[in-house]
Amino acid sequence: MTTATLYIGGRWEAAADGGTREIRCPADGSPVGTVSEATAKDTERAIAAAREAFDAGEWSTRPTAERGDLLLRVAAEIRRRKDEFVRAETLDTGKRPYESEIDMDDIAGCFDYFGKLAGQDAGRIVDAGSPDVLSRIVYEPVGVCALITPWNYPLLQAAWKVAPALAAGNTFVLKPAELTPHTSILLMEVLETAGVPAGVANLITGAGATAGAPLSTHPHVDLVSFTGGLVTGRKLGAAAMGSVKKVALELGGKNPNVIFADAVQTDEDLATAVDNALNGAFLHSGQVCSAGARLVVEESVHDRFVDALVQRAERIVLGLPFEKATETGPLISAEHRDKVDAYVRRAKEQGATIRTGGANATGDMGAGSLDDGYFYLPTVIDDVTSTMDCAHDEAFGPTVTVETFTTEDEAVQIANDTEYGLAGAVWSNDAGKADRVASRLRHGTVWINEFGPYLPQAEWGGYGQSGFGRELGPTGLAEYQEAKHIYRNLRPGVTGWFAQR
Ligand code: NAD
Repeated sequence: MTTATLYIGGRWEAAADGGTREIRCPADGSPVGTVSEATAKDTERAIAAAREAFDAGEWSTRPTAERGDLLLRVAAEIRRRKDEFVRAETLDTGKRPYESEIDMDDIAGCFDYFGKLAGQDAGRIVDAGSPDVLSRIVYEPVGVCALITPWNYPLLQAAWKVAPALAAGNTFVLKPAELTPHTSILLMEVLETAGVPAGVANLITGAGATAGAPLSTHPHVDLVSFTGGLVTGRKLGAAAMGSVKKVALELGGKNPNVIFADAVQTDEDLATAVDNALNGAFLHSGQVCSAGARLVVEESVHDRFVDALVQRAERIVLGLPFEKATETGPLISAEHRDKVDAYVRRAKEQGATIRTGGANATGDMGAGSLDDGYFYLPTVIDDVTSTMDCAHDEAFGPTVTVETFTTEDEAVQIANDTEYGLAGAVWSNDAGKADRVASRLRHGTVWINEFGPYLPQAEWGGYGQSGFGRELGPTGLAEYQEAKHIYRNLRPGVTGWFAQR
């Protein structure tokens, strides 16, 4: 792959100062590729290209159905080049190819969804209350969009932004996380192949503080859509307000998984709920914004449930991504692993019990040596109370905290006792109870008797400090549109408001 990885105005370019960054696989430290390391100067060039393309109007005024068709071609091309995408995502993140394949299918599905939605976007007539007035709402693109994405689901998070931004007729600058740029580079190739005009799609690879920062302050950017951590999101949102941009923030979560005793009465039901809790907590080693990292279990079944969970957690096989036996992979970097470890140590200091895990994983669990990667053992933290930091902080690693409740009200209270509000689940065989609790949870997505699925046609986003704005679904398109009211008086006349003198 070329080192000229900035895609600006339809051309592949190197960073103006010649800077590069070597990307290494977090599973074994092996080199994956070298990419351009953009600075603010490059970002400004990309913004200028996006501005020029937007102001030229060629893309924004195309019939919506044509834009939609182009997105369908993007989906088809991603499917055609799926193996390349899977390999690139796997090497950058260390996740299994199987997981990358699921991501790529979902990404193609996202382009399909917004491609079809784009063509239906005809605006609407509103009743102005008079036969002499024709009043209508038209949906227009916002303008130049800055799309900033994290490293855990690099292309999936980008697709949730790129697809609706294009469907609505915007131009954009995409800045993927500096550690995982390769699938975003491939996406630009695909957009080019599908016929996206020069300047409409632009890509900057580089660090947040340097390459990313101008995206939230530059006067020629109209909208910033950010997915990432709370601290960065706060900073970026405040910076964007300086020039009153539209801002969407998809931030972290500390997502409750509420288990009622009635859901785990039989051995089969217990196995199902434990299995889902295991996925919720340890999929992608917990580096999932909606990870079920906070178990809230009815006291009477605590011991059975947590014993079974610990047993299963201890058997998870950590390993290299291309090894068949691997069940989950590494954390993204040494710094991130240190943060996860510090979170676990603090939990211990504050009185929680580490039932299993709580240390770096080394050696060989049957799927390749872990010694050169950033592996961490699946960790179950029990005896947690609401005063402990571990109950509230997002570890973004393979950890799950366990709290107990005795009443429905208490379950809801604990599940809502968080500054976040991204997602949560409730397990109960009592449909009335499950629905009651689901409706009381202050979280953007609530699952009943499952953990984790999302749909391109269903809105995704957070309450509270998990951010604002929604991705996916019709609202996910509306985020990238301005609604304009056009009011036409069919019978103009004197108003008589002021006397004619
Ligand atoms: P991060 O906040 O460190 O970085 C996210 C992106 O912002 C990266 O591209 C980074 O380079 C960029 N960035 C950093 N500083 C910037 C600045 N000053 N200006 C502009 N851009 C800047 O987050 P991360 O560590 O990459 O991702 C992990 C976080 O993302 C977790 O908290 C996770 O919960 C969250 N996340 C949320 C969702 C969601 O849908 N809500 C999805 C995935 C991840």
